[in-house]
Amino acid sequence: MPVTRPLPRLDSDNRAFWTGGAEGRLLLNRCQDCRTFIHPPRPVCHHCLSEKVAPEAVAGTGTVDTFTVNHQKFHPAFEVPYVIARVAIDGAPGVFLTSNIVGCPVDAVDFGDRVKVKFEQQDDVWLPLFEKI
Ligand code: ZN
Repeated sequence: MPVTRPLPRLDSDNRAFWTGGAEGRLLLNRCQDCRTFIHPPRPVCHHCLSEKVAPEAVAGTGTVDTFTVNHQKFHPAFEVPYVIARVAIDGAPGVFLTSNIVGCPVDAVDFGDRVKVKFEQQDDVWLPLFEKI
């Protein structure tokens, strides 16, 4: 049996985020009163305390805000070296996803790179990874 990444535990707050990739959609929770995006997913808006929170699709593109190249094999599922990046998500001010940049050599990643989401399914989770565009 192949070793897989540690996976998140799904609950009613985060299920849309982790399973939206089944339909190719990056879903972020959004306050239906003040329209603030809420990530990580939570049941209450951090801006106005509304409980009217629902998932909405965003474009799935973004910009590498910062990144690091990891050369230490902390987990057997992660082949080194690999890039851990913080991606500013288009259309969702203040939302940054920490993920991997895949599909290119690690030394090809730079600050400000434009990226798009690429989902990788493991069990019942669709991990939002990113590749350069
Ligand atoms: Zn709100």
